[in-house]
Amino acid sequence: MKKICILGSTGSIGRQSIEVCKALRFPVVGLAAHSNTELLAQQIHALRPKAACIFDQSQYAELKEKTDGTGVQLFTGMEGLCQLASMTECDMVLNAVVGMVGLQPTLAAIDAGKAVALANKETLVTGGKLVISAAKEKGVPILPVDSEHSAIFQSMQGNAQNRVKKIILTASGGPFYGKTRKDLETVTVKQALCHPNWSMGAKITIDSATLMNKGLELIEACWLFDQKPEDVEIVIHRESVVHSLVEYEDHAVMAQLGVPDMKLPIQYALTYPKRLCCDTQRLSLTKYGQLTFAEPDEETFICLSACKEAMRRSGVYPAIVNGANEEAVALFLNGKIRFTDIGRLVMDSLAIQYDKEDFAISDILEADRLARNFVRASV
Ligand code: NDP
Ligand code: MG
Repeated sequence: MKKICILGSTGSIGRQSIEVCKALRFPVVGLAAHSNTELLAQQIHALRPKAACIFDQSQYAELKEKTDGTGVQLFTGMEGLCQLASMTECDMVLNAVVGMVGLQPTLAAIDAGKAVALANKETLVTGGKLVISAAKEKGVPILPVDSEHSAIFQSMQGNAQNRVKKIILTASGGPFYGKTRKDLETVTVKQALCHPNWSMGAKITIDSATLMNKGLELIEACWLFDQKPEDVEIVIHRESVVHSLVEYEDHAVMAQLGVPDMKLPIQYALTYPKRLCCDTQRLSLTKYGQLTFAEPDEETFICLSACKEAMRRSGVYPAIVNGANEEAVALFLNGKIRFTDIGRLVMDSLAIQYDKEDFAISDILEADRLARNFVRASV
């Protein structure tokens, strides 16, 4: 039994993680959200964690009032999020917040020696180098929750001695697979929020529609599995059944398959190396009949090329394209820019000059700020 702290507990992954913890009977000792006081308070009453954090300070008083009598210790802001991530009572931090705001609490958890189950891909995209070296130094595991990375991790079990030749990262292709650049010019927010296979938070759903999500995942895979961007192949697989694959020296290719359901990767991160019964549907290959694979269209979905280029340059460039994307997606969701502007802004953000071989967290935060300012100034 592990004591779990869930950051982003009110979100899509956070809510499913609570279900998984309940089924496993793992105590949830910490919860955090941005501003959804209503749901966070409900979760506190139901789960009785030791502590909780509401990031938005203006919501603190209301949360305090709503949780009166529960004995929960409340925190707020980034400092509170980091305190929660390093609390003594917890064994593992499941980071499911959205955006690069997840980086600092991940580092705080590692510093406190906590195992990390990582859904927040922006943590590794922006701070991969710092996070991986801190985890190595502290000897703490980082267990992937992202379904593709969980599949890669699962396909690597028993192969620690063997060199990976290539990682094959599958992508559903999102709602606009097969569309041309011209088609994409008139895409509405509602259309972009309609993912064919997965029900997720708004930001990652837009990222899946632009294929930025796959670009972020390529960077995430490079850090998690120590690979170069040219050794990660992206393959469009519309059915989302083969969650990703690993090719070895002898050209054997190992994969993990299953119905699209985040509960399995969440649970595997919590119970690794054990496999326990999981409340997901079983895969019937004959029901699917056939599985399809195709090359991505990187000329239409330019976010993918931008992420590859950012990772090739390395340094703070992944943080720059990520920051530009976070800002552009928020503007798109608020009706301020067109769908196709997202890719253009992410690509153009690579023109920002910020070359640093050795960089610290302050450089990542600065790169993020520059990228966001660049996007705001460009629209
Ligand atoms: P959601 O938008 O559904 O949820 C985000 C959660 O993060 C909410 O609980 C939100 O709180 C919280 N949050 C946001 N900012 C802060 C902050 N500053 N401090 C504390 N909490 C914060 O996102 P998802 O669950 O879809 O995604 C979460 C992460 O997991 C993302 O990085 C995504 O890329 C990754 N992921 C998601 C998958 C999915 O199936 N959904 C699959 C694979 C990866 P509030 O409700 O108060 O706003
Ligand atoms: Mg994924």
